[in-house]
Amino acid sequence: MKTRHTTDILIIGAGPIGIACALECKKRQLKYVVIEKGALTNSIYNYPLNMTFFSTSEKLEIDDIPFISNNPKPTRNEALEYYRRVVTSNRLNIKLYEEVAAVKKENDSFSIESSKAHYEAKHLIVATGFYDIPNMLNVPGEELPKVFHYYKEAHPFSLQNVAIVGASNSSVDAALEIYRKGGNVTMIIRGDAISERVKYWVRPDIINRIEEGSIKVFYTSEIEAIKEHELIINTPEGTKRIANDFVLALTGYQPNFRFLEAIGVQFSQDEKHSPTYNPETMETNVSNLYLAGVICGGMETHKWFIENSRIHAKQIAEYIENNK
Ligand code: FAD
Repeated sequence: MKTRHTTDILIIGAGPIGIACALECKKRQLKYVVIEKGALTNSIYNYPLNMTFFSTSEKLEIDDIPFISNNPKPTRNEALEYYRRVVTSNRLNIKLYEEVAAVKKENDSFSIESSKAHYEAKHLIVATGFYDIPNMLNVPGEELPKVFHYYKEAHPFSLQNVAIVGASNSSVDAALEIYRKGGNVTMIIRGDAISERVKYWVRPDIINRIEEGSIKVFYTSEIEAIKEHELIINTPEGTKRIANDFVLALTGYQPNFRFLEAIGVQFSQDEKHSPTYNPETMETNVSNLYLAGVICGGMETHKWFIENSRIHAKQIAEYIENNK
């Protein structure tokens, strides 16, 4: 039998924005709990080991708590240190390795079922980000064990034929790292160029490596099928077959729409799939259910980031405090 808890506010997700929400609740002496399915800042923990943020450290700060990094743009490790320290110093009420499986709105409160307990909460803040569900290629062979949708480090790909799908920051970082660790890298890009969003100090590097032929590229191309030892690619010059040991399909991620739909949140019917919420209070069409952080963008995962969504925490906590 699961333990039952009652709280005023339940926050799902201990990413930077869920943590910011917890801090704002604590400051206002609101009764809250954060439920996180993995480690603290689980998405950042799962980023590539050598990743550098595109934001400067002060833009990643929450509640004006200084984030000191060695260089203007902090690394994944520095961000882990920072957010962990914010949580421990402020003794935030966070439960880790506990997944929220289902939420039901019953009368005026939410009934929340996690992997470990049952909660009743008056207000629910969903800050679950978008890093858990990769956008699939939907091609034959994608289920093979040599295909990955997350990239951690280059070493396993040394001396291997590696195809990287995508043209954004994640793909470019992986392509450069693997090339420099002795991998034979081919990029497969749906558009006709490396994305303009690629970090400005990295973009010339990838373009030069492509131009000198160190990294191969198929522009305006898509994978048709993944075989055990080769790839079949549709290119403007016709179908190509290339030798292949690994595929890194770094084609982005999406929020868990089904989870929100099951609680009654409505979405726009276009390809953006934007959730319905009041931008001043962050309350959705379901009363007392708020969205915070990058989840707010729906399929537009480049719209929100830490810098412009950390404010959600204050907006929500202020609204709850004034409307208790
Ligand atoms: P997340 O950090 O994703 O946190 C969501 C949390 O919810 C996770 O810990 C997850 O485990 C948890 N969760 C999900 N479902 C459940 C559930 N059912 N039950 C319990 N817990 C759950 N932004 C910037 O501002 N600057 C950058 O430089 C930058 N670089 C990025 C680099 C990469 C590779 C990526 C992918 C994103 C980057 N972003 C950056 C974008 C964004 O700011 C980050 O993704 C940031 O982590 C979002 O914070 P968040 O708290 O909204 O969501």
